Amino acid sequence: MADEITPLFAQYLGIKQQHPNEVLFFRLGDFYEMFDDDAVEVSRLLNLTLTHRGQNPMCGIPYHAAKIYIARLLRLGKKIAIAEQVGDIPAPGKGLTERKVIEIITPGTALESEYLDGGINNFLASLCVRGKETGFSFIDVTTGEFKATSFETASIQENFPKELGRCSPRELILPESLRSNRIIQDTVALFDSMAVSYYPDWNFSLDSGYERLTEQFGTANLRSFSLTENSVEVMSAGFLLDYVSKTTNVSSPHIKSIQVYKDSEYVVMDDSSRRNLEITGNLRDGSQQFSLLECVNYTRTAMGSRMMRKWLTFALTDVNAIISRQNHVELFVNDRTLLRRIRDQLDGILDVERLAGRIAMDKAHGKDLQALRASLSCWLNIQSILGDSNFALINPEPAAEIIDLIANSIMEDPATSLTDGGIIKSGWSEELDHWRQVHDNFNQVLDEYVEEEKQATGIQNLKIKKSGNMGYFIEVSKGKLDKVPSHFIMRRTLVNADRYTTEKLQELESNLNESDTRILELERDLFLEVRNRLKAFVAYLQQTAREIAYADVTSSFAEAAVRHNWVRPVIEESLVFDVKGGRHPVVEQHIPQGEFVPNDLNLCSEDGCTFALITGPNMAGKSTFLRQNALISLLAQTGSYVPALYARLGIVDRIFCRVGASDNLAKGESTFLVEMTETAHILRSATEKSLVIMDEVGRGTSTEDGLSIAWAVSEYLLERIKCKTLFATHYHELTRMESDRAKKLCMAVDESTSEVVFLRKVISGSSQNSYGIHVARLAGVPEPVIKRAQMILEKIQGEAEDKPVINADEHVFEEEKSAAAPVSFTGGLFSDEELILDEILSLEVDSITPIQALQTIARWKHSLSGR
Ligand code: ADP
Repeated sequence: MADEITPLFAQYLGIKQQHPNEVLFFRLGDFYEMFDDDAVEVSRLLNLTLTHRGQNPMCGIPYHAAKIYIARLLRLGKKIAIAEQVGDIPAPGKGLTERKVIEIITPGTALESEYLDGGINNFLASLCVRGKETGFSFIDVTTGEFKATSFETASIQENFPKELGRCSPRELILPESLRSNRIIQDTVALFDSMAVSYYPDWNFSLDSGYERLTEQFGTANLRSFSLTENSVEVMSAGFLLDYVSKTTNVSSPHIKSIQVYKDSEYVVMDDSSRRNLEITGNLRDGSQQFSLLECVNYTRTAMGSRMMRKWLTFALTDVNAIISRQNHVELFVNDRTLLRRIRDQLDGILDVERLAGRIAMDKAHGKDLQALRASLSCWLNIQSILGDSNFALINPEPAAEIIDLIANSIMEDPATSLTDGGIIKSGWSEELDHWRQVHDNFNQVLDEYVEEEKQATGIQNLKIKKSGNMGYFIEVSKGKLDKVPSHFIMRRTLVNADRYTTEKLQELESNLNESDTRILELERDLFLEVRNRLKAFVAYLQQTAREIAYADVTSSFAEAAVRHNWVRPVIEESLVFDVKGGRHPVVEQHIPQGEFVPNDLNLCSEDGCTFALITGPNMAGKSTFLRQNALISLLAQTGSYVPALYARLGIVDRIFCRVGASDNLAKGESTFLVEMTETAHILRSATEKSLVIMDEVGRGTSTEDGLSIAWAVSEYLLERIKCKTLFATHYHELTRMESDRAKKLCMAVDESTSEVVFLRKVISGSSQNSYGIHVARLAGVPEPVIKRAQMILEKIQGEAEDKPVINADEHVFEEEKSAAAPVSFTGGLFSDEELILDEILSLEVDSITPIQALQTIARWKHSLSGR
């Protein structure tokens, strides 16, 4: 078998051996070819034709269209190694062209815009466990953003998904030793579009990581980044840098710092709460539709869009920082003309942050520089529009300098290739102008020369022509050959004419050729010189990009506030949660205007209540009410306005949103165990400053179990943790729980007609318990069944000693069958009188409205009189 391998295939195998984890794109002429398993997999993934080369499966893609295919493979989480032909192509039969992997493209280190999503950071993340501590780091090579944090290994089950959820990396690299760890595997499985790979543990070394980081940042130590030689973050962060430089094969001088953050700096939200609240993506398909992001994101630039995501996933806990953002949003809200002018200018700004990265990594081409120039011009306009507002803005002079440099040196619409010319403006370099003149004047010079020879020789039809392989020549027709002078050098004889050259013609031609080559070389060199000069501005451009993003996000918040009629919340260092006329930002946008019913919530105010128990039937609006308050709280801490008439909010440190198992069953992930694990997590981690949303907890088990758990959990939150809690339940038995610090709320229902109408209004009190049965009636369940259900329900609720024996009274239904309609149903455990008496005794007179009282009496009368 071995002797059948051609030298070319042996070369392929040699390279493939070094890149077992990547799809190898092997350059053969105008194609990238893939072989063996790579070919089989890629042909399946990209729907390409699979052919064979001898025994080996093979498929190929044209090299000029490679980016489209690479982009698709990256989205599928694949890594690609590009093996190019390097060195000279040998003469036929004289050995092989050398081939080498020149670049590895992975989802988390891709640099070209074709592989990136403009409005989303392209993060590469890493995690490393060292005993009791775990470090987590992530980096976006395209922007230079680099962050790290650490937590106790004991809490990895909560913190690892939480951190992954915050940054949503496209790629994760882990130490080999974690490959078989169940928690790691379970977590990784939650993020299905993320590429995951494992590397030997020694890569995550503290010493080399420290060295790598100091070298990258050009600092003697890492103190200014709050890291020491012993910080666990160094292990993962160091390897990230290593991995980036090995895969991209370019240096990344724009990565100049790392931000180490702590949980206390931002609102902590575990991954499942973040998903449940649908912050950046909906629960159904993860897309932005129907997410919070969708209804606040009016950003106009890619940088703004990325910052918006960050603000929503890293909401602040520092009152002053929030107020400072609010002040800027307010400036725009109060001055709509200013808002419009700023946003018009933002429209003209491209991705300055990634352009700066491209300049730093020697990737920028002429069009990139023109994009930068145009963007900076708009930015300078923004600076002057903002004038002496309270925005702290960077010195505009370097921006003006950059604009001048590019405007003077680069053509308006330059070529993207560096080797084909068409980049540098005339007037920028005398030498280039000279050679361009030589080139441009060539035809004129040639015409003059023809004229000169015509005069000298008297051959009037003498012509200068050009052919592909001969270059320029003088042609003399056969009839005039006797006039050919001696300085004409014969090149070829044809039937009708002879072709000559002369020394002068050769000189002119070589001048032309030289001018062509010099123009291309000079354009390239001059462009690189300009680009190198711009490298000095990379840090400045990064800061500019941050300011642009800031102006974009704050004005986007203002736009949302104006469009949706939101209000600036009062933020303070207290426990208060007081929202009047609160609305759900997303639901409100998706129902007809004006139909959303606003609701209030007041916790931790004068009455000292921390806990609200919300009862009500399904579909009455409980979940919406719960979520809207969590979203208002989160939005407020990003600096945004909130969907309410008024809000006064103390800072919350954590937001939890637990949704009962059955509400989540569609996702197939919520077993009762998951529900309880998450509940346990909340009970362990919530503090007095936290906001806890519990929606139908305890549903995933039997009624008695569920009720007891819901009760105990409520008590713990109420008595021990004392956090702000919204607890929605269909167990109205819970309303018997008494505490001065718990308030009972329910969803108002209009029963004045035969239809049950959910008013979506949260009112004080507890829900009546018969709505499920009402809904059953509406659904057409036969009346005797409804009545029987009512009876059983009331019996259960009465906790009578003699529990109803279901099915024992079979005659109940038999009787019904024989009776003529309408039926007066009398069977069962209790008479109508008993039932009514029972209902009177259990009625909460304080919590029903006069109209409800009248309706209830009418129902009793109807029931007793049969009318
Ligand atoms: P529950 O949790 O009680 O089952 P939901 O909160 O899921 O009820 O609400 C059911 C539906 O009612 C939602 O899809 C929403 O469209 C609508 N809804 C909820 N609250 C309101 C409100 N305040 N105003 C208008 N419509 C609402």
